[in-house]
Amino acid sequence: MKSFDRLSAASRREFIRTLSLGLGAGLAAHSALGQPLSWLEELSYGPASHEALQAGRQLGVALVGLGKYSNGQLAPALQQTKLCKLAGIVTGTPSKASQWKRQYNIPDKNVYDYQTFDRIADNPDIDIIYVVLPVGMHAEYVERAARAGKHVICEKPMAPTAEDCRRMIAAMQKAGKKFSIGYRLHFEPHHQEMMRLGQNLELGPIKSLVADNGFRFNNDTPWRVDKELAGGGPLMDMGIYCLQGVIYTKGEIPVSVTAKLAPNPDPKGLFKEVEAGVNWQMQFADGAVANCRTSYAENLNSRLRAETAKGFMELQPAFGYGGIQGRTHKGPLGLQNVPQQARQMDDFADCILNDKPTRVPGEMGLRDVQLLQAIYRAAETGQKVSTKDVVAVLDKTNKR
Ligand code: NAD
Repeated sequence: MKSFDRLSAASRREFIRTLSLGLGAGLAAHSALGQPLSWLEELSYGPASHEALQAGRQLGVALVGLGKYSNGQLAPALQQTKLCKLAGIVTGTPSKASQWKRQYNIPDKNVYDYQTFDRIADNPDIDIIYVVLPVGMHAEYVERAARAGKHVICEKPMAPTAEDCRRMIAAMQKAGKKFSIGYRLHFEPHHQEMMRLGQNLELGPIKSLVADNGFRFNNDTPWRVDKELAGGGPLMDMGIYCLQGVIYTKGEIPVSVTAKLAPNPDPKGLFKEVEAGVNWQMQFADGAVANCRTSYAENLNSRLRAETAKGFMELQPAFGYGGIQGRTHKGPLGLQNVPQQARQMDDFADCILNDKPTRVPGEMGLRDVQLLQAIYRAAETGQKVSTKDVVAVLDKTNKR
């Protein structure tokens, strides 16, 4: 099969169109300003999902890596999902295995370590493998999951390099299984509203954007400042949300980027392998610009804002697991916060059950890693870097 970035422009447009056609089922029916909507009622599932709901059949998810995100967010979310459930775990720590087995009622036969992982191929209880490991390990485990013949969700950022991403996509294509990235905010009503307002030019064309996301890193997860395991510093980990937010609000991929590293407060210690922070700009074909910031050295506002011809739209706080608030020049968006990860995983299950494309495919993960690499190149060289070779995948809203 042809790799996505070798496709002709026409095929790319078709790919984007196909992606956007797949969106309807996963999107909230309407933003319903100010109305208390159940997140579940808002989702419109395909027919196979309704059958699965009626039959009480849920797809089984195995979490690989039982760290902070699995423990604090994904496992609890899998108690709320309707189309999938926590069925298995993969961990190198026996004490975690015992605790999770007890807490989530997981049978011994669904518990693996990193050596026995490949035997998951023979386990019919597991439909989806969710890779929640340090970034530098994503490629190996996605490729192994593909060989095991399972559908896969891989956490963000997809991998340290675009080459890794291409290998992962190829492995999943060969396996003929669905593949998505853990981009939870594409399923979040405030972010979906930013897509709708921005892409439909509801407030007029976007002139400029600002996105900030960063925090003071306390070394609680040391792999995050290990270049090999993390791929990079806060740009990979936190800046990716700014990148994504800007792209889906504008509904376009930037044509070029410029960047500058922030001063490094600890170049021989904490930040000897990765950057402490980055300020970067993304330039769009129509002249619009996005100014973005990320950091591991200071707590930044979590913010996504666009100035438009008629006013502005803004989320602040923008990127957390909850507590997102939005407004335009006309007033508050008045939208509900929802269990983001539960929606994200149920949407993926719906894509599997109804054979639909996911709105957050591996190709989008590749696009973002290509852009992150372009930003690093711009920071290193001090030059404007063209992004013309970046794969043209967009999450186009179909909400009017
Ligand atoms: P963490 O350090 O808390 O968890 C990592 C897990 O990997 C641990 O269970 C650890 O034991 C295991 N592991 C296996 N081999 C390891 C090794 N060689 N070095 C270090 N750990 C190893 O990290 P986390 O915050 O849970 O992040 C895990 C993944 O989830 C990352 O890809 C991260 O970017 C992603 N994440 C995503 C979100 C989101 O909102 N989508 C939020 C947080 C983290």
